Amino acid sequence: MNRYSNLPPLPSRISRLDDLAVDLWWSWHAEARTVFRRLDYTLWRATAHNPVRMLALVPAARLDAAAADSEFVRLYDRAMEALDAARAAHNTWWTNRSPLLTGQSIAYFSAEFALHQSLPIYAGGLGVLAGDHCKEAGDLGVPLIGVGFMYPQGYFHQRISAEGWQEETYEQLNWADAPIEPATTVDGRPCITAVPLGDRSVLVAVWRVRVGRVQLYLLDTDLDENAPWDRELSARLYGGDRETRIQQEIVLGIGGVRALKAVGADPAVFHLNEGHAGFVVLQRIRDLIERGSSFDEALAEIRATTVFTTHTPVAAGHDTFPFQLVEKHLAGLWGTLGSNRDKFLALGSHDSGAGPQFNMTALALRSAGGINAVSQLHGSVTRGMWSSIWGATAESERRVGAVTNGVHVPTWISSGLSNLFATYLGADWLDRHDEPALWDNVLAIPDDELWAVRLALKQYLFTFVRERARQRWTEERVGIPRVVAAGTLLDPDALTLGFARRFTGYKRPELVFHDPDRLARILNATGRPVQLIFAGKSHPADDVGKHHLQHVYKRALDPLFGGRVAFIDDYDLHVAHFLVQGCDVWLNTPRKPNEASGTSGMKAAINGVPHLSIGDGWWAEGFTGANGWVIDGGASGDNDEASDAADANALYRLLEEDVVPAFYDRDHSNIPHRWLATVKESIRSVAPRFSARRMVKEYADRMYAPALERRRSEEVRK
Ligand SMILES: *Cc1c(COP(=O)(O)O)cnc(C)c1O
Repeated sequence: MNRYSNLPPLPSRISRLDDLAVDLWWSWHAEARTVFRRLDYTLWRATAHNPVRMLALVPAARLDAAAADSEFVRLYDRAMEALDAARAAHNTWWTNRSPLLTGQSIAYFSAEFALHQSLPIYAGGLGVLAGDHCKEAGDLGVPLIGVGFMYPQGYFHQRISAEGWQEETYEQLNWADAPIEPATTVDGRPCITAVPLGDRSVLVAVWRVRVGRVQLYLLDTDLDENAPWDRELSARLYGGDRETRIQQEIVLGIGGVRALKAVGADPAVFHLNEGHAGFVVLQRIRDLIERGSSFDEALAEIRATTVFTTHTPVAAGHDTFPFQLVEKHLAGLWGTLGSNRDKFLALGSHDSGAGPQFNMTALALRSAGGINAVSQLHGSVTRGMWSSIWGATAESERRVGAVTNGVHVPTWISSGLSNLFATYLGADWLDRHDEPALWDNVLAIPDDELWAVRLALKQYLFTFVRERARQRWTEERVGIPRVVAAGTLLDPDALTLGFARRFTGYKRPELVFHDPDRLARILNATGRPVQLIFAGKSHPADDVGKHHLQHVYKRALDPLFGGRVAFIDDYDLHVAHFLVQGCDVWLNTPRKPNEASGTSGMKAAINGVPHLSIGDGWWAEGFTGANGWVIDGGASGDNDEASDAADANALYRLLEEDVVPAFYDRDHSNIPHRWLATVKESIRSVAPRFSARRMVKEYADRMYAPALERRRSEEVRK
């Protein structure tokens, strides 16, 4: 069954364009992007780079002209060859590393995946990490299979009212525009699996997304056969109440394992990206008991083959459910578990102060053999935070490692810089991009060339910001103050700080406004203007976060700041690309140590946008002294007001004494050499170490390979 048969027919010379469009591989390969950009540049921009939608809309005459255009056909052939070569490759990092482990696979479970804006099944950082992990695993040949949710309404779209209040709207995905197709079972039928929920059975459809060498399976309960409330279960990401959430997580964990079986996959390792998919453990225990294991044997087997990554030290980020909710919704699954039910419930029991509850993180911590946090600092925070799980085990003995996050370099690097690297690092720079020594060649890039690329990237950002403001003005008739707040008065030559992240208390989005008059003097300084661009959503249920957002938005409306503060609404992957590439400095001001890692700062840094941040998350290990700046007010203890004031003061001093003077220190050709030294150091130090390539290799070496080897030696014994 091919869902894309509804697309208009393609001229035979370019008949595989649809194959290229539905494999997200295109999105991180310049030669493939060029094909679509060149096919119809207006449509490319109008669809926010969605080739599936483009192919549905592009006039037949345009396709015929492209098929007759020798230059287009040459680009097309080159892209198709590269795609075929990638799919056929037997000679990958992974096969060379572990020739004996080929044929085995790793299931990677995540509640969200951020692969491309045309597949809106993500909210933020967790999804970006999962998406980048899948792309890089494919590049390296690591045999990963993704499992997640197809949310027909995705995450919400954000608009900001005249009063600065976040408004949420949900859009039904147009299925025909998304790069998904029905997954099929081993015998070729559409894959549908059943999940017991309470006293009923819910049917789950399975979709497939192609991500280069990696397949991603997405679960969806929106089937005619299901009751209306069950059809809604998978409608939205992180929507609904505790009841919805636990049912979603049962569908993900139980349904995910069943779906893998149905499509013929038999993964040897299960990687739980955050606790949401913890019920994978329950399905696997049941399977093993059915095959004759005792509960303890089953648990031992699961421990040897489960990897768990925890992503936040903030308590509210860990899902907990009252036991009666677990009892109610898992009722249909207890059957074969019998008297082992209580043993299973005990795996998740955790008291975070309000009496014992069923805690998904506790479940994962107790049932995974490989556990990791996402930065060194987060590792030590995690070992302390879950002390009750490990009882008397000394903190240094607790089995929590750290695999610091990284970003998928081909996805996040701008093409302008990519071209410079090809010249100065070598045409094969992408193949070698996690080799630190390769990046010393960044120092050889002439300042004027690097600066020209940086200026071009800023220009793209400001064009994008103005276009979006124009849209709001013409389509939504927003008033003039909101047109200003959308960034129309921004100056492309001014030093531009970007701050884009989820709006929530611990991220302190308002810290930079702590002393409004001092900030206004910095922003409005004659001849040395500074400006701030904000973006980010607040979780729909987080009213505190929405108040923070409102306060920031009111600053953007305030003439005190001269139109130099802007808020870009509806932050997503598309907006993120413009911001992390086009700002001059990336700002981050969390309350330490609440930021587990953070990844937007890495995306910015590899694009020559140095990081100005509290020394939290990845920056605690990423700062070298020369690649950006650490904000450290020096206040210790629990007095938030005092540490906010101290950190704000430290931030102002850095801006006044270091950042602004370096940016505006120009030679006779108006080139900021001192600034570019920091830019180069930022690229050089961050690109290899904080790449998803380094990260996935670490997961493969430290977490996947040992479990896979164990499985292999068992099979050899049999
Ligand atoms: C990278 C990214 C994030 C995560 O950024 P943090 O630095 O971890 O806050 C969130 N949302 C989008 C759209 C991103 O691209």
